[in-house]
Amino acid sequence: MAPKITVIGTGYLGATHAAAMAELGFEVLGLDVDAEKIARLSRGETPMYEPGLQELLRRHVEGIEGASGRLRFTRDWAEAADFGDIHFVCVNTPQKQGEYACDMSYVNAAMDSLAKELRRPALVVGKSTVPVGSAERIAARIAALAPAGDGVELAWNPEFLREGFAVADTLHPDRIVVGVRSAHAEKLLREVYATPVAEGSPFIVTDFPTAELVKTAANSFLATKISFINAMAEICEASGGDVVKLAEAIGHDERIGRKFLRAGIGFGGGCLPKDIRAFMARAGELGADQALTFLREIDSVNMRRRGRMVEMARDAVGDSFLGTRVAVLGAAFKPDSDDVRDSPALNVAGQIHLQGAQVTVYDPKGMDNARRVFPTLGYAPSALDAVRGADVVLHLTEWSEFRDLDPEELGAAAGRRILLDGRNALDAARWRAAGWTVRAMGRPQP
Ligand code: NAD
Repeated sequence: MAPKITVIGTGYLGATHAAAMAELGFEVLGLDVDAEKIARLSRGETPMYEPGLQELLRRHVEGIEGASGRLRFTRDWAEAADFGDIHFVCVNTPQKQGEYACDMSYVNAAMDSLAKELRRPALVVGKSTVPVGSAERIAARIAALAPAGDGVELAWNPEFLREGFAVADTLHPDRIVVGVRSAHAEKLLREVYATPVAEGSPFIVTDFPTAELVKTAANSFLATKISFINAMAEICEASGGDVVKLAEAIGHDERIGRKFLRAGIGFGGGCLPKDIRAFMARAGELGADQALTFLREIDSVNMRRRGRMVEMARDAVGDSFLGTRVAVLGAAFKPDSDDVRDSPALNVAGQIHLQGAQVTVYDPKGMDNARRVFPTLGYAPSALDAVRGADVVLHLTEWSEFRDLDPEELGAAAGRRILLDGRNALDAARWRAAGWTVRAMGRPQP
């Protein structure tokens, strides 16, 4: 019989993983400590915006007409422990308050709650991004707590999904990495991922530390690539070069590649910033801090770009933001997501607001989350409304909706036709043709 699966923690990662496992044919029980989230998921509603997820949930959540019924949700640990042969732990691992290190309290609490109820053999699979060494510690903890003793085993299976593409990335992962300690654990995970593996997803078996490191190493590389091109943007700004042309030209070298070379206000979100910081903190604990000191520079290049955007906006309105109106297009940290965790767009909006401007934000999906985090900013129901009367318009999250805006229509509503493209994603020529002054990061002014 196919193994039964639980998913512990049903946020961006867990809700998607649970629905995808049901889609692959497994019986799935999702568990979260958040009662409202569980209630919504049980009705087939996503607690967040993720393209395609709502449809996937509605195809499988028990009780929905026409659904397979293979997916349901609970808050009951004993029920989950009793149900699952394999438990995927997908809870959050944020940055600790006031420190670089990872806050493991949610993972620790979830592992403890589950382990205490495990009365039958099971494989517990960590998917959260954790500091290297965590799996070994957690394995010992589970062994000490689980009533089923040796029958319970741990594996680590880091997740590489991208928000905005989470459903496709989970159903068709570009690689599957499993850190295991036994052939049995590997066999079970091969069964779980049989469909994507048959479709060609590479299946890479490692020890615990390597599996944990794959995730943080991948995120560090991506962050480095983004900060590299943003550092080149700084040089272009100082020298009169054009970072967009430069990126295009170096991107043709296949050893470099074109992806992640779009200069702008940098990376944010619930993963990259906190993961590179936690990686540095962990390297310090291991006595290997020198190996990662470059990540400190990657982080500061990234944060500097946000400040640079604020400066560009201040220059555009004169010398001071006092009494000015600033329109901000974008609140989510990236397009096709409502996630505003450590969003560069909101960070820039917040800084400008603090300096005295009246800031009005519009985002296609991130408005509710943005309002919760920055209640003092103004919010408008559309891009056109946000731009009305603005002295300057900032494009800070590259939604396709913004690429399709009509510069003529917006120009008629704006106070002044000044556009700052913080993502180098808009067609500057089109906006200029409609009378806008367009400035973009790392590009010369025409
Ligand atoms: P999230 O905050 O959206 O979801 C975490 C969920 O865990 C929440 O619903 C929360 O209520 C629940 N939770 C917290 N403590 C719990 C407990 N003790 N028991 C049960 N549930 C509990 O976070 P996320 O973005 O889904 O990230 C989860 C993990 O996955 C993190 O380690 C993150 O770094 C990693 N990750 C995230 C992504 C992504 O794109 N979001 C991609 C890859 C890896």
